[in-house]
Amino acid sequence: MRITTLEELLLLDIAGSGEPLSRAAIESYQAAALNRLVEYCRSRSPFYRSKLADTGSQRDIGLDILATLPLTSEAELREQGRHMLCVRQDEVARIVTLPSSGTTGAAKRLFFTEDDLERTRLFFRIGMGNLAAPGQQAAILLPGSTPDSTGYLLAVALQAMDVKSEIFGLVTDPVAVAEQLVARRFDVLIGFPVQLLAVARVAEARRMELPMIRSVLLCSDYIPDSITRALADSMGCEVFSHYGTVESGLGGAVDCSMHCGMHIRETDLLMEVIDPETGYPLDDGRWGEIVLTTLQRQGMPLLRYRTGDLGRLLGGTCACGSAIRRLDKVKGRISRRIRLCSGAWIDLPALDEVLFDLPGLLDFNAVIDEDSGQENLHIRLRCLPSCEGSTATAAKSRLSALPQLCGVHVRIEQSSGYGLLHQGKRQLIDQREFGYHETARSSSLLNPCR
Ligand SMILES: [Zn+2]
Repeated sequence: MRITTLEELLLLDIAGSGEPLSRAAIESYQAAALNRLVEYCRSRSPFYRSKLADTGSQRDIGLDILATLPLTSEAELREQGRHMLCVRQDEVARIVTLPSSGTTGAAKRLFFTEDDLERTRLFFRIGMGNLAAPGQQAAILLPGSTPDSTGYLLAVALQAMDVKSEIFGLVTDPVAVAEQLVARRFDVLIGFPVQLLAVARVAEARRMELPMIRSVLLCSDYIPDSITRALADSMGCEVFSHYGTVESGLGGAVDCSMHCGMHIRETDLLMEVIDPETGYPLDDGRWGEIVLTTLQRQGMPLLRYRTGDLGRLLGGTCACGSAIRRLDKVKGRISRRIRLCSGAWIDLPALDEVLFDLPGLLDFNAVIDEDSGQENLHIRLRCLPSCEGSTATAAKSRLSALPQLCGVHVRIEQSSGYGLLHQGKRQLIDQREFGYHETARSSSLLNPCR
């Protein structure tokens, strides 16, 4: 058993005695940082000055003030982002623009200073110590051409720990990537879950013997248990998970060698989980919307920012011995869950969990539509050659057994090949004329997850 390397990261901020960090020490640090942040935001940003007008001076008050502070919505970030800026334009080192989804108005823009970026680099450098060691080599199957993209920052972090890395970008041709992995020796692979699974399955189907991979880091999308298990079995490696968003500064939380939740970089991020309907904080173990407060961010701090992601915090000390708080698996965007006519909720993670266990499957598309009052789930499977029939039969049987899909007609189509159907994040598409997905913030959707 090895304690998470994030202990080292947090101890850089919290003077330590060489002993593992205590919960009390972390929370005392966070309380002081939160008080500083509130005053910083109030003094520098017109948006926060107005938002915090009813909040008195909170000096020397503990973390219990958190729930009294106003929440910040994604719409506010999109529409008033410039007024959230707390530094001069010439102090901004990087602006990340996330395009509008088409229905939500303006693009989201986040501003980072050089110090903000350095804190992310530090998290990656120390966090990667959980899964990589000096002298090893890593293949990064993520976009990395722009400075401060996740792939680029990971490469820089790995270099600082004497791990050589190569950025391959997203996997467009799993066979070509598998050939690279056979020809060269990589100890660590980093990428999207479905993309890495495709590389492993294509290599197996074509009898390409991959050299021993020590560890895999999955990130940037929902991480199904089915894929984690399949990769661990197929490559004989340890599989780690990371959660991060642009709002969290790309880095957020990463699991340790016990794989029972991702440790949060708690001196940078204060994470809460709230009931998406009422906005009230939920206890550890309850599923709800992840809310972020960036404790150190200088350029554009976020105060109780609603991420729209479904997750839960885990209570107690980790089996690795660390008291650093852990985030359980993040189940994707709450707004992307679809409410069926029956009142049941369905989302892509539920489909991923039952389908990716099928060994002949590389990828799939899923669409819900409606025909004369009958709801249909259309699944298009991409299977390994010669596995189409058996995979389609098993997929139909598994989906038909899902209680959420009771009354929904499941239609399966299949094609074969070694290519993927997606680049980047996947989603369940609702093509019904009167979809119910806009109501997905309702707290009732959380019940199936408890
Ligand atoms: Zn741990």
